[in-house]
Amino acid sequence: MRKLLISLALCGSLTTMAQQRKKLNFPDLPGYITLTADLHIHTVFSDGGVWPTIRVEEAIREGLDVVSMTDHLEYQPHKKDLPHPDRNRGYQLAAAYAKQHDILVVNGSEVTRSMPPGHFNAIYVADVNKLMEDDPMKVFEEAGRQGGFIFWNHPIWPAKEEDGSLKVFDMHKELLEKGLIHGIEVINGPSYYKDAVAFALEHDLAMLGASDVHGLTEWDYNISSGGYRPATIIFAKERTVGAVREALMAGRTIAWSGNTLVGKEDHLRPFIEQCLTANNASYEGVLRNGTATVLSVPIVNNSEVSFNLEYTGDYELHEHFNLVEIPANKTTVIKVKTREKVGPFMLQFRALNAITAPDKNAEFEIKVAVD
Ligand code: ZN
Repeated sequence: MRKLLISLALCGSLTTMAQQRKKLNFPDLPGYITLTADLHIHTVFSDGGVWPTIRVEEAIREGLDVVSMTDHLEYQPHKKDLPHPDRNRGYQLAAAYAKQHDILVVNGSEVTRSMPPGHFNAIYVADVNKLMEDDPMKVFEEAGRQGGFIFWNHPIWPAKEEDGSLKVFDMHKELLEKGLIHGIEVINGPSYYKDAVAFALEHDLAMLGASDVHGLTEWDYNISSGGYRPATIIFAKERTVGAVREALMAGRTIAWSGNTLVGKEDHLRPFIEQCLTANNASYEGVLRNGTATVLSVPIVNNSEVSFNLEYTGDYELHEHFNLVEIPANKTTVIKVKTREKVGPFMLQFRALNAITAPDKNAEFEIKVAVD
């Protein structure tokens, strides 16, 4: 009887979990599937407040596809209570838990040094214990040998970089020359780093967004009220750990925080063009002499991001000034004065919430199909 009760209890918790999994709505790109990842997370195995399995469960509830536990290698404030001799343990616990669920977990660690080099995450490493070296260069080299994807965390930390600009030291240049920096956070928690976007473009690095969460994501991002943690959108050939690594190394990423997207133009522009589509436009303002004047264009937003658009096309808009808001997961009708009946055409916009370079917003077009 006792056994039966226990199995019933387990069954109940799994059902609840499945019901609570959020489905994040983002479109795929031709040839790639769109995945979401938080690759900078802390647990009790460094200075975080929760057990690794809770991290995995949070991510499942939020609909993420990939997570990595990246506890500080060198900063171990709970060491008295958790001696932690095997630095792969957080990953092992998370990965074992993830096996019963639809989520990918990769091994990782945060290399936590003063500047230079600062803080870096090495993920996709086989054995974190082998990164315990005094010389930071040796740590990076070992992570590289293990096939790690290495990225610079919160590269501008106002408490340390008083003037708020990115400081590139000789050590960073050496790491770049050796091919040991593959990405950089342009978004970390609430922070956005314009200089990091420039650095990513200059050195062809992947741009990442991450929560760097230490408590619960619910506390920081009001998940239960519809909030999202900062994350990285990844365009992978398939939904596997290996395909995600290939996509990261190739830099097919967009950093995502709330309604803000930051990424290379090559990815951001096609992604927005998949998010926003306009089919079934129709004329409603037909004058007595039979001429059409105003075209109603329903723009479908097939994403979790609300877009703030500046209209840059030639036709005049009838009901909007040149600023148009397209809420997430909704259809918004805009009215375009074409003045005469036209066939399919393109509408041009600039996305004020999508950044492709310092002080540059994504420009894109929506193809309007007219009924
Ligand atoms: Zn961190």
